[in-house]
Amino acid sequence: MKPIAVPGLPERSPGTQVTRSDVARSDVAPRPAPHHRVAIIGAGFAGLGMAIRLLQSGEQDFVVLEKADEVGGTWRDNTYPGCQCDVASNIYSFSFAPNPHWSRTYAWQGEIFDYLKDCTERFGVRPFIRLGTELQAAHWDNAEQRWQLRTSRGAFSADVLVLGHGGLSAPAQPDIPGFDRFKGTVFHSAAWRHDHDLSGERVAVIGTGASAIQIVPAIQPKVGKLTLFQRTAPFVIERIDPQHGPLRRKLYAYLPFAQKLSRLREYASRELVVLGLLKHERMERFRSFALKHLRTQVQDPVLRKKLTPKFTLGCKRILLSNDYYPALAQPNAEVVTERILEATETGVVTADGTHHPLDTIVLCTGFKVTDHPVMNLLYGRDGRSLAEHWSGGAAAYLGLNAAGFPNLFLLSGPNTALGHSSIIYMLESQFTYVLDGLSALRERGAAALEVRAEAVEEFCDGLQKKLVGTVWSSGCASWYMDANGRNTTIWPDFTFNYRKRTRRLDRGAYLFEERRASAQAEPAAPGVRAAS
Ligand code: NAP
Repeated sequence: MKPIAVPGLPERSPGTQVTRSDVARSDVAPRPAPHHRVAIIGAGFAGLGMAIRLLQSGEQDFVVLEKADEVGGTWRDNTYPGCQCDVASNIYSFSFAPNPHWSRTYAWQGEIFDYLKDCTERFGVRPFIRLGTELQAAHWDNAEQRWQLRTSRGAFSADVLVLGHGGLSAPAQPDIPGFDRFKGTVFHSAAWRHDHDLSGERVAVIGTGASAIQIVPAIQPKVGKLTLFQRTAPFVIERIDPQHGPLRRKLYAYLPFAQKLSRLREYASRELVVLGLLKHERMERFRSFALKHLRTQVQDPVLRKKLTPKFTLGCKRILLSNDYYPALAQPNAEVVTERILEATETGVVTADGTHHPLDTIVLCTGFKVTDHPVMNLLYGRDGRSLAEHWSGGAAAYLGLNAAGFPNLFLLSGPNTALGHSSIIYMLESQFTYVLDGLSALRERGAAALEVRAEAVEEFCDGLQKKLVGTVWSSGCASWYMDANGRNTTIWPDFTFNYRKRTRRLDRGAYLFEERRASAQAEPAAPGVRAAS
Protein backbone atom coordinates (compact mmCIF):
# COMPACT_ATOMS: atom_id res chain seq x y z
CA MET A 1 0.00 0.00 0.00
CA LYS A 2 1.41 3.38 -1.00
CA PRO A 3 1.72 5.82 1.93
CA ILE A 4 -0.16 9.08 1.39
CA ALA A 5 0.74 12.59 2.43
CA VAL A 6 -0.67 13.56 5.80
CA PRO A 7 -1.40 16.98 7.22
CA GLY A 8 1.28 18.53 9.47
CA LEU A 9 1.29 18.26 13.22
CA PRO A 10 -0.67 20.82 15.15
CA GLU A 11 1.21 23.34 17.23
CA ARG A 12 2.60 21.90 20.48
CA SER A 13 0.69 23.13 23.49
CA PRO A 14 1.65 22.73 27.15
CA GLY A 15 0.42 19.44 28.56
CA THR A 16 -1.62 21.02 31.30
CA GLN A 17 -4.37 19.14 33.06
CA VAL A 18 -7.76 20.15 31.67
CA THR A 19 -11.03 20.47 33.47
CA ARG A 20 -14.47 19.87 32.10
CA SER A 21 -15.15 23.56 31.71
CA ASP A 22 -11.88 23.96 29.80
CA VAL A 23 -13.01 21.32 27.41
CA ALA A 24 -16.41 22.86 26.91
CA ARG A 25 -14.93 26.26 26.03
CA SER A 26 -15.21 27.23 22.41
CA ASP A 27 -11.63 28.57 22.33
CA VAL A 28 -10.04 25.18 23.01
CA ALA A 29 -7.95 25.43 19.82
CA PRO A 30 -5.87 28.53 19.19
CA ARG A 31 -6.29 27.92 15.44
CA PRO A 32 -8.46 25.53 13.44
CA ALA A 33 -7.70 22.05 14.66
CA PRO A 34 -6.89 19.35 12.11
CA HIS A 35 -10.08 17.47 11.38
CA HIS A 36 -10.33 13.81 10.42
CA ARG A 37 -13.13 11.46 9.57
CA VAL A 38 -11.85 9.05 12.24
CA ALA A 39 -9.51 9.49 15.21
CA ILE A 40 -8.16 6.36 16.90
CA ILE A 41 -6.71 6.53 20.39
CA GLY A 42 -3.80 4.16 20.98
CA ALA A 43 -1.45 2.25 18.69
CA GLY A 44 -1.43 -1.17 20.30
CA PHE A 45 -3.05 -4.27 18.80
CA ALA A 46 -6.45 -2.55 18.86
CA GLY A 47 -5.55 0.84 17.39
CA LEU A 48 -3.11 -0.54 14.82
CA GLY A 49 -5.49 -3.24 13.66
CA MET A 50 -8.27 -0.68 13.31
CA ALA A 51 -5.98 1.63 11.34
CA ILE A 52 -4.96 -1.19 9.01
CA ARG A 53 -8.53 -2.25 8.41
CA LEU A 54 -9.58 1.36 7.77
CA LEU A 55 -6.83 1.81 5.21
CA GLN A 56 -7.68 -1.51 3.58
CA SER A 57 -11.30 -0.35 3.30
CA GLY A 58 -10.17 2.72 1.35
CA GLU A 59 -10.49 5.24 4.19
CA GLN A 60 -7.52 7.59 4.26
CA ASP A 61 -8.84 10.41 6.39
CA PHE A 62 -7.90 9.17 9.83
CA VAL A 63 -5.31 9.69 12.52
CA VAL A 64 -3.96 7.48 15.31
CA LEU A 65 -3.02 9.35 18.50
CA GLU A 66 -0.46 7.50 20.60
CA LYS A 67 0.90 8.86 23.86
CA ALA A 68 4.18 6.91 23.78
CA ASP A 69 7.07 7.31 21.38
CA GLU A 70 6.50 3.99 19.65
CA VAL A 71 3.61 1.71 18.70
CA GLY A 72 3.02 -1.60 20.47
CA GLY A 73 0.78 -0.93 23.50
CA THR A 74 1.11 -3.52 26.21
CA TRP A 75 3.91 -5.29 24.25
CA ARG A 76 5.92 -2.08 24.25
CA ASP A 77 5.34 -1.31 27.92
CA ASN A 78 5.69 -4.74 29.50
CA THR A 79 9.38 -5.53 29.19
CA TYR A 80 9.81 -7.37 32.47
CA PRO A 81 12.13 -10.40 32.52
CA GLY A 82 10.33 -13.52 31.34
CA CYS A 83 7.51 -11.62 29.58
CA GLN A 84 5.82 -14.01 27.19
CA CYS A 85 2.31 -14.29 25.81
CA ASP A 86 0.08 -16.88 27.43
CA VAL A 87 -2.04 -17.30 24.33
CA ALA A 88 -0.49 -19.19 21.41
CA SER A 89 0.94 -16.77 18.86
CA ASN A 90 -0.75 -18.45 15.93
CA ILE A 91 -4.04 -17.09 17.26
CA TYR A 92 -2.59 -14.13 19.15
CA SER A 93 -1.89 -12.31 15.87
CA PHE A 94 -3.97 -10.71 13.14
CA SER A 95 -5.73 -13.16 10.82
CA PHE A 96 -4.73 -10.89 7.94
CA ALA A 97 -1.06 -10.90 8.96
CA PRO A 98 0.05 -14.44 9.84
CA ASN A 99 3.66 -14.61 11.00
CA PRO A 100 5.46 -17.80 9.98
CA HIS A 101 8.53 -16.75 11.99
CA TRP A 102 7.30 -17.16 15.58
CA SER A 103 10.14 -18.82 17.46
CA ARG A 104 7.84 -20.93 19.63
CA THR A 105 4.19 -21.61 20.45
CA TYR A 106 4.01 -18.75 22.98
CA ALA A 107 6.12 -15.88 21.64
CA TRP A 108 8.31 -13.69 23.81
CA GLN A 109 7.39 -10.04 24.34
CA GLY A 110 10.14 -8.78 22.02
CA GLU A 111 8.86 -10.88 19.12
CA ILE A 112 5.33 -9.58 19.53
CA PHE A 113 6.56 -6.00 19.79
CA ASP A 114 8.57 -6.53 16.57
CA TYR A 115 5.52 -8.08 14.93
CA LEU A 116 3.44 -4.98 15.69
CA LYS A 117 6.14 -2.64 14.41
CA ASP A 118 6.42 -4.78 11.30
CA CYS A 119 2.64 -4.64 10.70
CA THR A 120 2.78 -0.86 11.11
CA GLU A 121 5.27 -0.60 8.24
CA ARG A 122 3.97 -3.45 6.11
CA PHE A 123 0.43 -2.14 5.98
CA GLY A 124 1.48 1.49 5.53
CA VAL A 125 -0.17 2.97 8.62
CA ARG A 126 2.95 4.63 10.11
CA PRO A 127 2.23 8.02 8.40
CA PHE A 128 -1.17 8.17 10.10
CA ILE A 129 0.27 7.81 13.61
CA ARG A 130 1.04 10.78 15.85
CA LEU A 131 3.48 9.53 18.48
CA GLY A 132 3.94 11.40 21.76
CA THR A 133 0.37 12.62 21.52
CA GLU A 134 -1.58 11.92 24.66
CA LEU A 135 -5.33 12.37 24.85
CA GLN A 136 -6.21 14.84 27.60
CA ALA A 137 -9.92 15.19 26.95
CA ALA A 138 -12.51 14.54 24.29
CA HIS A 139 -15.98 15.95 24.16
CA TRP A 140 -18.86 15.48 21.79
CA ASP A 141 -19.66 18.81 20.24
CA ASN A 142 -23.42 18.88 19.69
CA ALA A 143 -23.29 21.98 17.50
CA GLU A 144 -20.55 20.75 15.20
CA GLN A 145 -21.64 17.11 15.41
CA ARG A 146 -18.12 15.89 15.94
CA TRP A 147 -15.60 15.00 18.63
CA GLN A 148 -13.31 17.77 19.86
CA LEU A 149 -10.08 16.34 21.19
CA ARG A 150 -7.52 18.01 23.38
CA THR A 151 -4.12 16.33 23.34
CA SER A 152 -0.63 17.00 24.64
CA ARG A 153 0.21 18.17 21.10
CA GLY A 154 -2.75 20.42 20.43
CA ALA A 155 -6.34 20.02 19.36
CA PHE A 156 -7.91 17.70 16.82
CA SER A 157 -11.45 17.03 15.80
CA ALA A 158 -12.99 13.93 14.31
CA ASP A 159 -16.39 12.75 13.13
CA VAL A 160 -15.86 9.36 14.70
CA LEU A 161 -13.74 8.46 17.71
CA VAL A 162 -12.41 4.93 18.19
CA LEU A 163 -10.91 4.11 21.54
CA GLY A 164 -8.10 1.55 21.49
CA HIS A 165 -6.43 2.58 24.74
CA GLY A 166 -5.99 -1.00 25.96
CA GLY A 167 -7.80 -2.39 28.97
CA LEU A 168 -4.53 -3.37 30.65
CA SER A 169 -2.66 -0.10 30.24
CA ALA A 170 -3.14 1.71 33.56
CA PRO A 171 -1.06 0.05 36.32
CA ALA A 172 -2.83 -0.41 39.65
CA GLN A 173 -0.97 0.42 42.87
CA PRO A 174 -1.71 -1.66 45.97
CA ASP A 175 -3.59 -0.04 48.84
CA ILE A 176 -0.79 -0.60 51.37
CA PRO A 177 -0.64 2.06 54.12
CA GLY A 178 2.59 4.02 54.37
CA PHE A 179 3.84 2.85 51.02
CA ASP A 180 5.64 6.09 50.24
CA ARG A 181 7.69 5.71 53.45
CA PHE A 182 9.67 2.84 51.89
CA LYS A 183 13.18 4.11 51.04
CA GLY A 184 14.15 1.23 48.73
CA THR A 185 13.26 0.83 45.07
CA VAL A 186 9.68 0.24 43.95
CA PHE A 187 8.39 -0.36 40.47
CA HIS A 188 5.44 -1.92 38.69
CA SER A 189 5.73 -4.96 36.41
CA ALA A 190 4.54 -2.79 33.50
CA ALA A 191 7.30 -0.21 34.09
CA TRP A 192 10.33 -2.41 34.67
CA ARG A 193 13.44 -0.61 35.89
CA HIS A 194 16.09 -2.10 33.62
CA ASP A 195 18.60 0.33 35.10
CA HIS A 196 18.19 -1.31 38.49
CA ASP A 197 20.25 -4.46 39.16
CA LEU A 198 18.45 -6.93 41.41
CA SER A 199 21.52 -9.14 41.89
CA GLY A 200 21.92 -10.20 45.48
CA GLU A 201 19.07 -7.97 46.69
CA ARG A 202 16.19 -8.77 49.02
CA VAL A 203 13.31 -8.49 46.57
CA ALA A 204 9.57 -8.63 47.22
CA VAL A 205 7.11 -9.57 44.52
CA ILE A 206 3.57 -8.53 45.42
CA GLY A 207 0.88 -10.39 43.52
CA THR A 208 0.44 -13.79 41.93
CA GLY A 209 -1.19 -13.07 38.58
CA ALA A 210 -0.02 -13.67 35.01
CA SER A 211 2.80 -11.12 35.34
CA ALA A 212 4.15 -12.38 38.68
CA ILE A 213 4.34 -16.01 37.62
CA GLN A 214 6.63 -15.03 34.75
CA ILE A 215 8.74 -12.60 36.77
CA VAL A 216 9.37 -14.88 39.76
CA PRO A 217 11.30 -17.62 37.89
CA ALA A 218 13.14 -15.04 35.81
CA ILE A 219 14.57 -13.15 38.79
CA GLN A 220 14.79 -15.84 41.48
CA PRO A 221 18.22 -17.19 40.41
CA LYS A 222 19.89 -13.77 40.63
CA VAL A 223 18.33 -12.17 43.72
CA GLY A 224 19.65 -12.72 47.23
CA LYS A 225 16.22 -13.41 48.68
CA LEU A 226 12.87 -13.48 46.94
CA THR A 227 9.73 -12.97 49.03
CA LEU A 228 6.46 -13.54 47.23
CA PHE A 229 3.51 -11.87 48.93
CA GLN A 230 0.54 -13.97 47.95
CA ARG A 231 -3.02 -12.96 48.67
CA THR A 232 -4.56 -15.68 46.51
CA ALA A 233 -2.92 -18.84 45.19
CA PRO A 234 -3.65 -19.11 41.46
CA PHE A 235 -4.11 -22.24 39.34
CA VAL A 236 -0.91 -22.80 37.42
CA ILE A 237 -0.83 -25.56 34.83
CA GLU A 238 1.82 -26.91 32.50
CA ARG A 239 2.92 -24.75 29.58
CA ILE A 240 3.40 -26.86 26.48
CA ASP A 241 5.59 -24.53 24.50
CA PRO A 242 7.70 -26.21 21.82
CA GLN A 243 10.14 -24.16 19.81
CA HIS A 244 9.32 -23.70 16.15
CA GLY A 245 12.30 -25.13 14.29
CA PRO A 246 13.44 -24.01 10.83
CA LEU A 247 11.40 -26.74 9.17
CA ARG A 248 8.12 -25.62 10.71
CA ARG A 249 8.87 -21.99 9.93
CA LYS A 250 9.63 -22.84 6.32
CA LEU A 251 6.43 -24.86 6.11
CA TYR A 252 4.40 -21.91 7.43
CA ALA A 253 6.17 -19.49 5.08
CA TYR A 254 5.72 -21.59 1.94
CA LEU A 255 2.42 -23.22 2.82
CA PRO A 256 0.40 -20.59 4.73
CA PHE A 257 -2.50 -23.03 4.76
CA ALA A 258 -0.56 -25.21 7.24
CA GLN A 259 -0.35 -22.32 9.68
CA LYS A 260 -4.03 -21.55 9.11
CA LEU A 261 -4.85 -25.13 10.03
CA SER A 262 -2.80 -24.87 13.20
CA ARG A 263 -4.56 -21.60 14.01
CA LEU A 264 -7.95 -23.23 13.49
CA ARG A 265 -7.04 -26.19 15.70
CA GLU A 266 -5.85 -23.86 18.48
CA TYR A 267 -8.99 -21.73 18.15
CA ALA A 268 -11.35 -24.72 18.24
CA SER A 269 -9.69 -26.33 21.26
CA ARG A 270 -9.93 -23.07 23.20
CA GLU A 271 -13.60 -22.61 22.29
CA LEU A 272 -14.31 -26.01 23.83
CA VAL A 273 -13.17 -24.62 27.18
CA VAL A 274 -16.21 -22.31 27.13
CA LEU A 275 -18.42 -25.34 27.75
CA GLY A 276 -16.76 -25.67 31.15
CA LEU A 277 -16.52 -21.97 31.96
CA LEU A 278 -20.26 -21.45 31.50
CA LYS A 279 -21.11 -24.03 34.20
CA HIS A 280 -18.90 -23.77 37.23
CA GLU A 281 -19.77 -27.29 38.46
CA ARG A 282 -18.18 -28.66 35.30
CA MET A 283 -14.92 -26.85 36.05
CA GLU A 284 -14.82 -28.44 39.51
CA ARG A 285 -14.33 -31.80 37.80
CA PHE A 286 -11.03 -30.57 36.35
CA ARG A 287 -9.69 -29.37 39.68
CA SER A 288 -7.72 -32.48 40.49
CA PHE A 289 -6.29 -32.59 36.96
CA ALA A 290 -5.22 -28.93 37.26
CA LEU A 291 -3.54 -29.58 40.61
CA LYS A 292 -1.43 -32.42 39.20
CA HIS A 293 1.19 -29.91 38.09
CA LEU A 294 1.53 -28.54 41.65
CA ARG A 295 1.73 -32.06 43.10
CA THR A 296 4.46 -32.99 40.64
CA GLN A 297 6.52 -29.86 41.04
CA VAL A 298 6.32 -29.11 44.77
CA GLN A 299 7.33 -31.84 47.22
CA ASP A 300 7.26 -29.81 50.44
CA PRO A 301 3.74 -30.28 51.91
CA VAL A 302 3.75 -26.91 53.70
CA LEU A 303 4.65 -25.00 50.55
CA ARG A 304 2.24 -27.09 48.50
CA LYS A 305 -0.59 -26.24 50.88
CA LYS A 306 0.18 -22.55 50.59
CA LEU A 307 0.17 -22.78 46.81
CA THR A 308 -3.10 -24.71 46.56
CA PRO A 309 -5.89 -22.55 45.11
CA LYS A 310 -9.11 -22.30 47.09
CA PHE A 311 -11.47 -21.10 44.37
CA THR A 312 -13.06 -22.70 41.32
CA LEU A 313 -10.75 -23.33 38.39
CA GLY A 314 -11.25 -20.62 35.75
CA CYS A 315 -12.80 -18.01 38.05
CA LYS A 316 -9.49 -16.17 37.77
CA ARG A 317 -7.23 -16.50 34.75
CA ILE A 318 -5.68 -19.99 34.45
CA LEU A 319 -1.93 -19.48 34.36
CA LEU A 320 0.70 -21.46 32.46
CA SER A 321 4.21 -22.01 33.76
CA ASN A 322 6.75 -24.78 34.10
CA ASP A 323 9.20 -22.87 36.25
CA TYR A 324 7.09 -20.84 38.71
CA TYR A 325 6.63 -23.60 41.31
CA PRO A 326 10.26 -24.85 41.06
CA ALA A 327 11.50 -21.27 41.59
CA LEU A 328 9.39 -20.94 44.74
CA ALA A 329 10.81 -24.20 46.05
CA GLN A 330 14.37 -22.83 45.99
CA PRO A 331 16.13 -22.04 49.30
CA ASN A 332 16.30 -18.28 48.56
CA ALA A 333 12.52 -18.04 47.96
CA GLU A 334 9.72 -17.63 50.47
CA VAL A 335 5.96 -17.46 50.01
CA VAL A 336 4.27 -15.19 52.54
CA THR A 337 0.52 -15.53 52.81
CA GLU A 338 0.02 -13.13 55.71
CA ARG A 339 -1.61 -9.87 54.65
CA ILE A 340 0.69 -6.88 54.28
CA LEU A 341 -0.30 -4.43 57.02
CA GLU A 342 1.94 -1.51 56.18
CA ALA A 343 5.20 -0.44 54.64
CA THR A 344 8.13 0.89 56.63
CA GLU A 345 11.29 2.70 55.53
CA THR A 346 13.09 -0.62 55.17
CA GLY A 347 10.45 -3.17 54.25
CA VAL A 348 6.90 -4.28 54.99
CA VAL A 349 5.11 -5.57 58.07
CA THR A 350 2.62 -8.42 57.74
CA ALA A 351 -0.46 -9.16 59.86
CA ASP A 352 1.47 -11.62 62.06
CA GLY A 353 3.76 -8.77 63.15
CA THR A 354 6.76 -9.91 61.08
CA HIS A 355 8.91 -7.21 59.56
CA HIS A 356 10.29 -8.23 56.15
CA PRO A 357 13.42 -6.22 55.32
CA LEU A 358 13.60 -5.41 51.60
CA ASP A 359 15.74 -3.60 49.04
CA THR A 360 13.25 -3.64 46.18
CA ILE A 361 9.52 -4.16 45.81
CA VAL A 362 8.15 -5.30 42.45
CA LEU A 363 4.45 -4.58 42.16
CA CYS A 364 2.69 -7.25 40.15
CA THR A 365 -0.63 -5.87 41.28
CA GLY A 366 -2.34 -5.67 37.91
CA PHE A 367 -4.19 -2.88 36.18
CA LYS A 368 -7.13 -0.52 36.55
CA VAL A 369 -9.56 -2.22 34.25
CA THR A 370 -13.12 -1.39 35.31
CA ASP A 371 -11.99 2.05 36.50
CA HIS A 372 -9.59 2.93 33.70
CA PRO A 373 -8.70 6.64 33.91
CA VAL A 374 -9.52 7.22 30.22
CA MET A 375 -13.20 7.13 31.18
CA ASN A 376 -12.70 10.46 32.92
CA LEU A 377 -11.51 12.03 29.69
CA LEU A 378 -14.54 11.36 27.49
CA TYR A 379 -17.56 13.67 27.66
CA GLY A 380 -20.77 12.74 25.91
CA ARG A 381 -23.79 14.54 24.56
CA ASP A 382 -24.94 15.78 27.99
CA GLY A 383 -21.47 16.98 29.06
CA ARG A 384 -21.04 14.16 31.58
CA SER A 385 -18.00 11.91 31.45
CA LEU A 386 -18.12 8.24 30.61
CA ALA A 387 -16.96 7.54 34.19
CA GLU A 388 -20.02 9.43 35.48
CA HIS A 389 -22.31 7.62 33.06
CA TRP A 390 -20.88 4.34 34.19
CA SER A 391 -20.85 4.99 37.93
CA GLY A 392 -23.33 2.11 38.29
CA GLY A 393 -21.22 -0.14 36.06
CA ALA A 394 -19.84 -0.07 32.53
CA ALA A 395 -22.48 -0.75 29.89
CA ALA A 396 -22.04 -0.75 26.14
CA TYR A 397 -23.93 -2.38 23.30
CA LEU A 398 -21.80 -5.32 22.16
CA GLY A 399 -19.08 -3.74 24.28
CA LEU A 400 -18.73 -1.13 21.55
CA ASN A 401 -21.18 1.73 21.97
CA ALA A 402 -22.35 3.61 25.07
CA ALA A 403 -25.64 5.52 25.12
CA GLY A 404 -25.14 9.29 25.12
CA PHE A 405 -21.80 9.04 23.30
CA PRO A 406 -22.49 9.48 19.59
CA ASN A 407 -19.94 8.21 17.08
CA LEU A 408 -17.81 6.65 19.80
CA PHE A 409 -16.62 3.07 19.40
CA LEU A 410 -14.79 1.28 22.21
CA LEU A 411 -12.37 -1.45 21.21
CA SER A 412 -12.16 -4.23 23.81
CA GLY A 413 -14.87 -2.38 25.72
CA PRO A 414 -17.03 -3.78 28.53
CA ASN A 415 -17.68 -7.53 28.53
CA THR A 416 -15.51 -8.35 25.55
CA ALA A 417 -12.40 -9.67 27.33
CA LEU A 418 -11.75 -13.41 27.36
CA GLY A 419 -10.53 -15.89 29.90
CA HIS A 420 -9.92 -18.64 27.38
CA SER A 421 -8.87 -17.36 23.97
CA SER A 422 -7.30 -14.58 21.95
CA ILE A 423 -8.52 -11.02 22.33
CA ILE A 424 -7.33 -10.40 18.77
CA TYR A 425 -10.28 -12.44 17.51
CA MET A 426 -12.67 -10.17 19.41
CA LEU A 427 -10.87 -7.06 18.18
CA GLU A 428 -11.12 -8.17 14.57
CA SER A 429 -14.87 -8.65 15.03
CA GLN A 430 -15.02 -5.11 16.37
CA PHE A 431 -13.05 -3.68 13.45
CA THR A 432 -15.66 -5.10 11.09
CA TYR A 433 -18.44 -3.56 13.15
CA VAL A 434 -16.80 -0.11 13.18
CA LEU A 435 -16.27 -0.22 9.42
CA ASP A 436 -19.91 -1.07 8.93
CA GLY A 437 -20.83 1.77 11.29
CA LEU A 438 -18.97 4.14 8.99
CA SER A 439 -20.79 2.64 6.01
CA ALA A 440 -24.13 3.10 7.75
CA LEU A 441 -23.37 6.78 8.35
CA ARG A 442 -22.35 7.20 4.73
CA GLU A 443 -25.30 5.36 3.24
CA ARG A 444 -27.76 7.51 5.23
CA GLY A 445 -25.82 10.76 4.85
CA ALA A 446 -26.04 10.99 8.63
CA ALA A 447 -23.70 12.97 10.85
CA ALA A 448 -23.91 10.69 13.85
CA LEU A 449 -25.14 7.40 15.14
CA GLU A 450 -25.94 6.77 18.76
CA VAL A 451 -26.95 3.53 20.35
CA ARG A 452 -30.39 3.52 21.94
CA ALA A 453 -30.32 3.34 25.74
CA GLU A 454 -32.90 0.50 25.67
CA ALA A 455 -30.68 -1.54 23.37
CA VAL A 456 -27.74 -1.17 25.76
CA GLU A 457 -29.88 -2.08 28.75
CA GLU A 458 -31.39 -5.11 27.10
CA PHE A 459 -27.98 -6.31 25.90
CA CYS A 460 -26.33 -5.86 29.29
CA ASP A 461 -29.23 -7.47 31.16
CA GLY A 462 -28.89 -10.46 28.87
CA LEU A 463 -25.17 -10.67 29.59
CA GLN A 464 -25.61 -10.43 33.34
CA LYS A 465 -28.21 -13.22 33.21
CA LYS A 466 -25.81 -15.31 31.18
CA LEU A 467 -23.08 -14.77 33.76
CA VAL A 468 -25.16 -16.36 36.53
CA GLY A 469 -23.90 -19.87 37.20
CA THR A 470 -20.71 -19.37 35.23
CA VAL A 471 -17.29 -19.92 36.69
CA TRP A 472 -16.66 -16.17 36.91
CA SER A 473 -19.62 -15.82 39.29
CA SER A 474 -18.48 -18.64 41.57
CA GLY A 475 -17.26 -16.34 44.32
CA CYS A 476 -13.61 -15.42 43.73
CA ALA A 477 -12.35 -11.84 43.62
CA SER A 478 -10.95 -10.97 40.21
CA TRP A 479 -10.21 -7.97 38.04
CA TYR A 480 -13.21 -8.97 35.94
CA MET A 481 -15.51 -7.53 38.65
CA ASP A 482 -16.21 -3.84 39.16
CA ALA A 483 -16.63 -1.99 42.46
CA ASN A 484 -20.34 -2.91 42.44
CA GLY A 485 -19.55 -6.62 42.19
CA ARG A 486 -20.73 -6.89 38.56
CA ASN A 487 -18.69 -8.64 35.96
CA THR A 488 -18.33 -5.96 33.30
CA THR A 489 -15.23 -7.44 31.73
CA ILE A 490 -15.78 -10.96 30.42
CA TRP A 491 -17.64 -12.13 27.31
CA PRO A 492 -19.53 -15.13 28.69
CA ASP A 493 -20.06 -17.01 25.48
CA PHE A 494 -18.33 -18.55 22.48
CA THR A 495 -16.33 -16.00 20.53
CA PHE A 496 -17.95 -17.09 17.26
CA ASN A 497 -21.29 -15.92 18.68
CA TYR A 498 -19.74 -12.50 19.21
CA ARG A 499 -18.46 -12.53 15.66
CA LYS A 500 -21.92 -13.42 14.36
CA ARG A 501 -23.42 -10.45 16.20
CA THR A 502 -20.79 -7.99 14.99
CA ARG A 503 -20.76 -8.86 11.29
CA ARG A 504 -22.99 -5.86 10.58
CA LEU A 505 -23.92 -2.79 12.54
CA ASP A 506 -27.27 -3.59 14.10
CA ARG A 507 -28.98 -0.58 12.56
CA GLY A 508 -32.21 -1.01 14.53
CA ALA A 509 -30.34 -0.47 17.78
CA TYR A 510 -29.19 3.03 16.80
CA LEU A 511 -30.55 6.50 16.27
CA PHE A 512 -29.12 8.30 13.27
CA GLU A 513 -28.72 12.05 13.46
CA GLU A 514 -29.02 14.03 10.30
CA ARG A 515 -26.37 16.56 9.38
CA ARG A 516 -27.45 20.04 10.40
CA ALA A 517 -27.29 22.91 7.93
CA SER A 518 -24.36 24.52 9.76
CA ALA A 519 -22.18 21.44 9.26
CA GLN A 520 -20.69 20.58 5.83
CA ALA A 521 -23.73 19.33 4.02
CA GLU A 522 -24.21 15.89 2.63
CA PRO A 523 -27.80 15.16 1.61
CA ALA A 524 -29.59 12.96 4.11
CA ALA A 525 -30.92 9.71 2.77
CA PRO A 526 -34.54 8.76 3.42
CA GLY A 527 -35.15 7.39 6.89
CA VAL A 528 -32.60 9.62 8.60
CA ARG A 529 -34.00 11.59 11.49
CA ALA A 530 -32.84 13.67 14.36
CA ALA A 531 -31.82 11.80 17.47
CA SER A 532 -34.01 12.48 20.44
P1 NAP B 1 -3.56 -9.50 38.01
O1 NAP B 1 -3.87 -10.77 37.34
O2 NAP B 1 -4.64 -8.53 38.22
O3 NAP B 1 -2.87 -9.86 39.36
C1 NAP B 1 -2.65 -8.91 40.35
C2 NAP B 1 -2.15 -9.62 41.58
O4 NAP B 1 -1.86 -8.66 42.57
C3 NAP B 1 -3.18 -10.55 42.18
O5 NAP B 1 -2.53 -11.74 42.58
C4 NAP B 1 -3.69 -9.78 43.38
O6 NAP B 1 -4.15 -10.60 44.42
C5 NAP B 1 -2.43 -9.07 43.78
N1 NAP B 1 -2.63 -7.91 44.65
C6 NAP B 1 -3.25 -6.76 44.32
N2 NAP B 1 -3.21 -5.92 45.39
C7 NAP B 1 -2.54 -6.57 46.38
C8 NAP B 1 -2.20 -6.26 47.70
N3 NAP B 1 -2.52 -5.10 48.26
N4 NAP B 1 -1.53 -7.20 48.43
C9 NAP B 1 -1.21 -8.38 47.90
N5 NAP B 1 -1.52 -8.73 46.64
C10 NAP B 1 -2.17 -7.85 45.89
O7 NAP B 1 -2.39 -8.68 37.24
P2 NAP B 1 -1.31 -9.19 36.20
O8 NAP B 1 -0.59 -10.37 36.72
O9 NAP B 1 -0.52 -8.04 35.79
O10 NAP B 1 -2.19 -9.70 35.00
C11 NAP B 1 -3.26 -8.92 34.50
C12 NAP B 1 -3.72 -9.47 33.18
O11 NAP B 1 -2.77 -9.08 32.21
C13 NAP B 1 -3.76 -10.97 33.07
O12 NAP B 1 -4.91 -11.53 33.61
C14 NAP B 1 -3.63 -11.17 31.60
O13 NAP B 1 -4.86 -10.97 30.97
C15 NAP B 1 -2.68 -10.06 31.22
N6 NAP B 1 -1.31 -10.55 31.20
C16 NAP B 1 -0.97 -11.42 30.24
C17 NAP B 1 0.30 -11.90 30.22
C18 NAP B 1 0.69 -12.84 29.18
O14 NAP B 1 0.04 -13.08 28.24
N7 NAP B 1 1.82 -13.39 29.34
C19 NAP B 1 1.24 -11.53 31.16
C20 NAP B 1 0.87 -10.64 32.10
C21 NAP B 1 -0.39 -10.15 32.13
P3 NAP B 1 -5.61 -11.28 44.36
O15 NAP B 1 -5.48 -12.37 43.35
O16 NAP B 1 -5.85 -11.76 45.72
O17 NAP B 1 -6.55 -10.20 43.93
